[in-house]
Amino acid sequence: MKKHNFSAGPCILPQEVMQKASEAILDFNGLGLSLIEISHRSKDFVEVMDTVRSLALELLGLEGKGYEALFLHGGASLEFLMVAYNLLENKAGYLNTGTWSDKAIKEAKLFGEVVEVGSSKDKNFNYIPKGYVVPKDLDYLHLTSNNTIFGTQIKEFPKTDCPLVCDMSSDIFSRQLDFSQFDLIYAGAQKNMGPAGTTLVVVKEDILGRVSRQIPSMMDYKVHIAKDSMFNTPTVFSVYVSMLTLQWLKDLGGIAAIEEINEKKANLLYSEIELNPLFTGFAKKEDRSLMNATFNLADESLTEVFDTMWKEAGINGLNGHRSVGGYRASMYNALSLESVGILVDVMSDLERKG
Ligand code: PMP
Repeated sequence: MKKHNFSAGPCILPQEVMQKASEAILDFNGLGLSLIEISHRSKDFVEVMDTVRSLALELLGLEGKGYEALFLHGGASLEFLMVAYNLLENKAGYLNTGTWSDKAIKEAKLFGEVVEVGSSKDKNFNYIPKGYVVPKDLDYLHLTSNNTIFGTQIKEFPKTDCPLVCDMSSDIFSRQLDFSQFDLIYAGAQKNMGPAGTTLVVVKEDILGRVSRQIPSMMDYKVHIAKDSMFNTPTVFSVYVSMLTLQWLKDLGGIAAIEEINEKKANLLYSEIELNPLFTGFAKKEDRSLMNATFNLADESLTEVFDTMWKEAGINGLNGHRSVGGYRASMYNALSLESVGILVDVMSDLERKG
């Protein structure tokens, strides 16, 4: 039986995407060869790369607006330093909303001065700081749109005079935003796109080339743009599955359609967390994430009973991150409303038994 997969990432992908991906492993496009044994310079793979790059821009509404989409290696963690390598000449601002922002800050400090414009560390990152002041003289401001571990999400983005950079690893393609307010967006594939391996970077070309340092080729966004995201051998499988997922999303009606479903899923679960006295939500209500719901049992002595119940219901991946504890239900694009319904049923069953 296929499990209800609430894992935080790597995570659930659409079943039909996995079906097509497994077929391509055996025979890609009827070539009599596997996707993973053909040259990345072959016509068939070049077409995959071209398609996924244009699909990404199309779904984000950024076609023809001076942006390039790249599918690189190294995960979002490499972008922590690539962003600074390419953009940080003097001073950058970072909003510290948790573990991943913290790691991005650490890397950026290797390249220049970093100002933490705001932080929610005082409350173990259970909220998004607001009303912070963005200094005028920044090379860029860096935000993390969705905090996978703590279950918070930025709902309103600041207006800035400097380039705006955003780590969207755990909520890319999940909700409608004016993506043109960002100058650089990056996201590891392994949540809403595909298997781990590739990282989507969407960058507005005119913010590049402003730093005076020499940038090694693999670290240089301009090099990757000039080579159509094929400077070296790409992570072909991850890129291919990302293409299938983005096609699946487009056929579904794009981000507008998935946002509606994501809101239904999140409303269902958050209502249960609010109404069921056995549970308490971790993140501040107004900042709660549509993707990762974090919650705790009000009475920890029920842990064993609850854990047994959700596992018996075929649920996977509900344990919270060690820095928060409790539970985290990740409801990425491919997770169905039905799966959330199963979890909510288990939670209300616990209340009835309790
Ligand atoms: N940023 C965010 C918001 C994340 O959730 C993660 C991984 N869960 C990362 C960065 C790091 O990604 P990677 O493992 O691809 O380097």
